[in-house]
Amino acid sequence: MGYKKIYEEYIGQTVPLDFHVHHMDGNHENNDINNLIAIPKELHEFLHSIRYIISFPIYKELGEAREKLIKQELEYWKIFKDCQHRLFEDS
Ligand SMILES: [Zn+2]
Repeated sequence: MGYKKIYEEYIGQTVPLDFHVHHMDGNHENNDINNLIAIPKELHEFLHSIRYIISFPIYKELGEAREKLIKQELEYWKIFKDCQHRLFEDS
């Protein structure tokens, strides 16, 4: 079963078209429900582009600051995960 289906089965609804299901730990093999989160697709694309950009060699020298950004991203997921249930109440 695909991860989107796993997620939809868990929440008992289909994910709205303008939402994406994301793997919080970045591991696409980890389809554990605690690792999946539905977020607006714009936010998803934005956060993935940051992750992509900071992987460029020119940003390697950022060192600790770069690590901080990656950790911060995980914090975002946790915050959105906490209010996840509200996303689907009104739809
Ligand atoms: Zn993602």
